[in-house]
Formats: sequence, structure tokens, C-alpha cells
Amino acid sequence: MDFRIGFGYDVHQLQEGLPFWLGGIQLEHTKGSLGHSDGDALIHAICDAMLGAANLGDIGLHFPDTDPSLKGIDSKILLRKTMDIVASKGYSIGNIDSTICLQRPKVKSYIPHMQAVLAKTLGIDPQQISIKATTTEKLGFVGREEGVSAYAVVLLKKD
Ligand code: MG
Repeated sequence: MDFRIGFGYDVHQLQEGLPFWLGGIQLEHTKGSLGHSDGDALIHAICDAMLGAANLGDIGLHFPDTDPSLKGIDSKILLRKTMDIVASKGYSIGNIDSTICLQRPKVKSYIPHMQAVLAKTLGIDPQQISIKATTTEKLGFVGREEGVSAYAVVLLKKD
């Protein structure tokens, strides 16, 4: 069995009046993510971790923010395409661990839904996806509610 670990990190700016997509679902909030796609920082961090584990570059290489066909795209489509890319190299997902950094709103109650949606998109069990959340104690851009960040590690395996 061949095991590969990968790490991903992403940030999106938060602005008033935009829809807030995170972990494949829409959060109730007055602000949302600014981005070329739907701005889902958690999904983007997971995609980068998957690509990193397979040593296949990063999300910007595969899905450039200069591509007009990706404008406003649902990041679940990018996640599914990323799964197809790593699967084409013979990899499957062992597990995913992730952390969302966000001052407001509290995301704890959303996490089971995020796990279910991401698991369905990836074709894996929700038990294979850990999603944690933290504030930054009002420090930095996250603390000032100017942005959201997310970290992810992914273990890929190949028989
Ligand atoms: Mg991003």
C-alpha cells in the first residue's frame, strides 16, 4: 500500500451582501466570500491537500481564476474534478482532517451537514472527513471578520 499525505490552505475575503459558501453548503450570515468561484475556502483547502498528496500541483494550476468558464462555479464541482484527477492516478482517500478559521458565525452546528455533503461529493464515508472550527480570538484578518481561512490535510492511498 502506497500512502501519500498532502496539505492545503486557503483564504477568502468576506464582504457584506455576498452568499457565504463553506464546506459545500450556504451559511446564514450578512457577509459572504469574495472569489472567482463561489469562494468556498474549506473545499479549496481540501482540493489543494489532495493535489499536494498526489504531487499534481495546486488548485490554481488545474482551475485558474482567469478561466471565465469557472466564474461563480460551485466548488463542489471542483472538488469532484479533483477527486477524478487523483483517482486517475490510482489514489483513493484514506481520511481528511481540516480546520476552519472564522470569527463569526459559529459553524459548529453546520459541520455534520458539511461532512455529509463533502462525503457525497467525494464518494466516501462522512467518517473519513473531520471538520473542526476555531475563531482566532478576534486577532488578525479572521478576528476582524475580514476573511475566512481553512487548513486541510489529506491522506491518499494506492493499493
Ligand atoms: Mg480559494
